[in-house]
Amino acid sequence: MSIPLFDLTRQNDALMDELLATAERVLRSGRYIMGDEIDGLEAEAAQALGSVNSLAVSSGTDAILLALMAAGIGPGDEVILPDFTFFATGGCVARTGARPVFVDVCPYSYNLLPEAVEAAITEKTRAIIPVHLFGQSADMSRLMPIAQKHGLRVIEDCAQSIGAKHHGDYVGSIGDYGAISFFPTKNLGGFGDGGLVLASDPIDFGRAKIMRVHGMEPKYYHPETGGNFRMDAIQAALLRIKLPHLSSYNAGRQANAEYYLKTFGENPQVFSPTEDTATATQPEARLILPLTYSHNEVTWNQFTVRIPGEGARESFRNHLQEHEIGTEIYYPLPLSQQKCFERYSPDACPTAAMVADECVSLPIFPELTSDEREKVAEAVLSWLNQ
Ligand SMILES: *Cc1c(COP(=O)(O)O)cnc(C)c1O
Repeated sequence: MSIPLFDLTRQNDALMDELLATAERVLRSGRYIMGDEIDGLEAEAAQALGSVNSLAVSSGTDAILLALMAAGIGPGDEVILPDFTFFATGGCVARTGARPVFVDVCPYSYNLLPEAVEAAITEKTRAIIPVHLFGQSADMSRLMPIAQKHGLRVIEDCAQSIGAKHHGDYVGSIGDYGAISFFPTKNLGGFGDGGLVLASDPIDFGRAKIMRVHGMEPKYYHPETGGNFRMDAIQAALLRIKLPHLSSYNAGRQANAEYYLKTFGENPQVFSPTEDTATATQPEARLILPLTYSHNEVTWNQFTVRIPGEGARESFRNHLQEHEIGTEIYYPLPLSQQKCFERYSPDACPTAAMVADECVSLPIFPELTSDEREKVAEAVLSWLNQ
């Protein structure tokens, strides 16, 4: 039995008749840009995500870029973000002409450290992009007061965390802007690229809306330089079919994560970090589980563990590969070490570098069967016990 890291066909097959009928209806309508499907998705997503306003856009990357543009970030500005994240978080900052400032992360939750953010603030700092990596909220309750104290905008990168909560609040509704991705591997996987910008404040939202269509207001008058960041109507229509299932998809991932945490946590070679050990020194262990905070509701876009020791991660991956189990490394190189960011001479972030060397993600998608996750666990335990 081969077990893929991820399989979207199982989820979409279950809705196929409805998806096909909807695609046909949109194709026959002759209306492919904006319109009712976009309005409908925006209203339903805002309702589902605890946000007042939501804007459908072309991708998660464009959602971040659009939010930065709407916040007026540009040349001469600095934007603080975690060193350990997907490229887009930093790439968008660079594209505005602002300087990305990479800060170090927690070795267990993998999210950016509020104290590192505070230490990186200069008189040029204009914004922070907390990333809720792998589906767990960053420490927003400590980050927001820091941002308020220094007058910084906060753009939450929620690409991996649609539906996640922090102290009961949906991510994306806490900062000034939230950026959601519907890339097929995300928790609400679309049929190509797509994303959402969330904004609570009507002025911030209005700016984002204008930026989505070339900074145009009114028609053919352009007070600002925006872009074409629209989502296709057919994408919106298909996403509207999947959105009502989001909480059940997230619950499936949650159940798989709980199974892994419990099963692996019982092995003596495994370290299970807790909220009090978060600042302790590196444990002696062959596998380090992710730390989740009790005040967070995690959406588990990835289940990512650390395998410390020279060559150990490769041996672990080879072992799983022999058992036909898919794994992936999210992410092998921190942003501060990416060639394209050399020109910023970024400070080293030692924990991000260590996590990038040791991380590996296991199958966690909601349709994984209990047989399959047991096979994954058996393979992991047989590696630990060998
Ligand atoms: C996927 C992702 C993005 C970009 O989203 P796209 O829809 O692929 O453009 C941005 N940030 C993070 C953390 C992501 O995982």
